[in-house]
Amino acid sequence: MKEKTIQESVFCSGVGLHSGQIIHMALHPASKDSGIVFIRKDLGDIRIPANSAHVIPSSLATILESDGATVQTVEHLMAAISAMEIDNLIIELDGAEVPALDGSAYPFISLLQKAGSVKQKKERTYIEILKPMAISENGKSIAVRPGSSFEVSCHISFDHPVISNQSYRYWHSRQSFIQELASARTFGFLKDASALQAKGLAMGASVDNAVVIGDDKVLNKQGLRYSDEFVRHKVLDLIGDFALLGLPILGQVEAHCSGHKLHAELIQEIMQNKKAWRMVTASCSEKPPVVFQPTLQGMPLTA
Ligand SMILES: [Zn+2]
Repeated sequence: MKEKTIQESVFCSGVGLHSGQIIHMALHPASKDSGIVFIRKDLGDIRIPANSAHVIPSSLATILESDGATVQTVEHLMAAISAMEIDNLIIELDGAEVPALDGSAYPFISLLQKAGSVKQKKERTYIEILKPMAISENGKSIAVRPGSSFEVSCHISFDHPVISNQSYRYWHSRQSFIQELASARTFGFLKDASALQAKGLAMGASVDNAVVIGDDKVLNKQGLRYSDEFVRHKVLDLIGDFALLGLPILGQVEAHCSGHKLHAELIQEIMQNKKAWRMVTASCSEKPPVVFQPTLQGMPLTA
């Protein structure tokens, strides 16, 4: 298991979900052990490493900051990078947000597939969870415990007939992510749109890049991509946020109505609690990382 970067540079552009600005993005190969780094081309090439030390707590999107420069809504791209097992990458942007594209991670998967990948001369390192850790707040919670692969159990509950209660259990691998999560789009309620836009948020949101929920139905003409698209998107967000650990994780995560802010708090807890995990490579681990598990779509948590 070697670290990987992309084979060739790739480019895309699109509107930012919150900023409403058109953003151009370029992905470039990066050297071994350099991690994922955003570069704000419009601000004199300020570098913003994609790791927990640079996360600004926020509930609506994940924001990174360095030297006064920010980049927001990184989670869908980070989830795709994690799924494609890319360890080192330079992401150039000419604005403060990753393009929303269709609101899912699928366009980023396509972009990374087009870029190809190359192995590098360094063993891939993992964070292996050794002791359970948990965060809870106002009836929401997230916990991580030891496991030989990255698994996520997620439950969401919304007082709205279109979503209501949904649960999903997921084993992280490239194949599973592409089949089960990549196409699940972000979502929002039409009734919240004007209040968000008054705060300068969701300025670029539309049915082209989000599932828009009305009083009693989905307003997108094509409907949903999965019957449980909402909880699948929440798992996608969690995968993207956990990618900000900076290394792939071996552990089981259980999330109950959690979001970006709680994810960030657990990641900080993990980084600070250094006796609760260790770094391993596939060659030195007593339990080698499991990189592929059978796909169990929509498996209920109670199964
Ligand atoms: Zn999202």
